[in-house]
Amino acid sequence: MHPKIVFLDMEGTLLKKEYRLDDGLVAPSAWTLLAERLGQDCLRDEQDTKKQWLAGGYKNYLQWMKATVDIHRRYKLTEAVFREVIESVEFMPGVDEALADLRGWAATTVLISGGFKALADRVQRRLRIDHALSGCEYFFDAASGQIEHFNLLPADERGKADFMRLMCVEHQVDPHDCAFVGDGMNDIHLAREVGFSVAFNAQEALRAVSAAVIDQATGNEDFREVVSVLGDRFARRDMRKDANLRTVSP
Ligand SMILES: [Mg+2]
Repeated sequence: MHPKIVFLDMEGTLLKKEYRLDDGLVAPSAWTLLAERLGQDCLRDEQDTKKQWLAGGYKNYLQWMKATVDIHRRYKLTEAVFREVIESVEFMPGVDEALADLRGWAATTVLISGGFKALADRVQRRLRIDHALSGCEYFFDAASGQIEHFNLLPADERGKADFMRLMCVEHQVDPHDCAFVGDGMNDIHLAREVGFSVAFNAQEALRAVSAAVIDQATGNEDFREVVSVLGDRFARRDMRKDANLRTVSP
């Protein structure tokens, strides 16, 4: 039996991770790429929000995103710079073949990301993903090119699990018959609630709650191994989660 729905994280999972921006705390993402593009002061301010988030300084993910949007406004982010950064993010090797395989299983695919809708749109279109929820959509002013308005959605942390449950209800599927693939500590809520989770080149907190762990050398990542693990092990997901279920590749 294959998973009925495969839930997918985006950054660091379907898209390559920017290891040079990884501070070992919050997983690197286009939020940080944008801040870096806007200069060292902006990067410092953005990193301060991460520290504040980890210290419990924001009520929820929406409040954290709003603080970051305020920083983007302060440093006068324009649509041109935003597009440039969004287009610069590279896909994880093997994702095209892997997603074609998931479609072959007749699995519904759902992308859930706390990142930008513009980035999720790129990924969803190329990989023909069925549903996508993302954290932030920017609307830019045509004359100035700067942020005119924005839409923020609770698409990260606990919100990832909430959206998973919503999609399961809608599709009339038990979460136990679903799989998840992600890489960050922000994915643990969702990873814990589905039948089988794969930690893909992931942070420790996610590895600890996942049924399978895929470790690949930096520069040799290949998403096709996720399909191979799901194909081999999803049907046996009720077996005890222990070291024997883990996969490690060179
Ligand atoms: Mg991620």
